[in-house]
Amino acid sequence: MIRKLTFIILLFSLPSLAQNKLCYSVYAAKQKLLLKNSKGRQRVEFSTQVSMKGFKSDLLEVEIPAGMGSDLQIELYGDASTRYLISSVFLSDGKILVSDSPEGIVTTSFVKLEDLGPIGAFADPSSAFAYNSAIRSLPGYEPGTNSLLIPARYLDSKKSLKMFVQFRSDKSTERHKIETKIVARKTIKKNEPTEVNLNVFVADGINLPEASLPIQELVNRLNYIYASAGIQFKIGFYKRIDKKFRDLTLSNNTSKIFSEVSTDAPTGLNLVFSSSISDSYGNLGGLCIDMPGASSAQGLKSTGILLAISSLPNLLDSQQISYWVVELGNNLAHEVGHFFGLNHTFESTSEKLVDAIADTPETESSNLMNPYPVRNEILSLSPTQIRDVLSHPLVVPKAK
Ligand SMILES: [Zn+2]
Repeated sequence: MIRKLTFIILLFSLPSLAQNKLCYSVYAAKQKLLLKNSKGRQRVEFSTQVSMKGFKSDLLEVEIPAGMGSDLQIELYGDASTRYLISSVFLSDGKILVSDSPEGIVTTSFVKLEDLGPIGAFADPSSAFAYNSAIRSLPGYEPGTNSLLIPARYLDSKKSLKMFVQFRSDKSTERHKIETKIVARKTIKKNEPTEVNLNVFVADGINLPEASLPIQELVNRLNYIYASAGIQFKIGFYKRIDKKFRDLTLSNNTSKIFSEVSTDAPTGLNLVFSSSISDSYGNLGGLCIDMPGASSAQGLKSTGILLAISSLPNLLDSQQISYWVVELGNNLAHEVGHFFGLNHTFESTSEKLVDAIADTPETESSNLMNPYPVRNEILSLSPTQIRDVLSHPLVVPKAK
């Protein structure tokens, strides 16, 4: 039986239907969520149930207040033997954020997931690249669940905005309910100091004890680069991990690395330090597997940043330390930028992944998100990049 009752969590303002130029009724959204602006440190969650029948769900309609200023994570929890995708996300202003057209693109994504092993196996979020979207935040490919982080820049509007979301399953099902959630961070005040909690995982065999000078210097470098955004990073959790993580050869199971090491870690940005990282194209200095990375429990455990630490500085040689820190710290800061949703300032391979930011000219080599950085020059974040980074829910007001 279909429960017809619309489940409204919080009422912020009544939507003015007269303002709507498009006719939303054609979308026939069955479930509505009204989000609310609120100040403070904690994340806020809004949830409701949505019906699925056949391969598709009813549309979920989310009313987003003007000036929300936070990325929104969409999450779903369904039947444990079924795989789901967040197949379509579009806005009342006509913007399509995730599309399942051209026809078949979502089916292709599911096929790619099937290639990765039987149901129950972990799969790499980036394997579903077939998604027709510039948003690459696709963590959580375990059956029965999925999530997607929508950057605030797509939702920025002077008026309240409606977002429509549809879910697809990999097999046709009887009508059943799935639980859906929208997770956001409360609004940050202008110029408010913020912080990010880091979970550091160091592979056995790398001489980087907790609170050692090189680790502290890496965090100092991050803080130096992100000072213009008012963000401070702090290590809230440190853990030694198995030596099998020392030399990583990446295949389709990158997210499994994080889910294996982060089981007992608190909410934070996971950093895994290895000696070497390689994929089929060669060696990598660092990698962020999602762009942006997830923001809440679901997804966060299976995402983060890998950093290759191929050598350590002589601790008696301050010049060597500073050279090492600039090299690795800049790499790390660049990957952190990706995690917070920043794209490259230009891209030779995929136009979809280039940022659409006016104040990051591609000729500017000193921008943090330039893909071909010039050593010692990577220092700057543009005002728009700062706005985007501050929208990520892992950036929270500094604890007093
Ligand atoms: Zn990059």
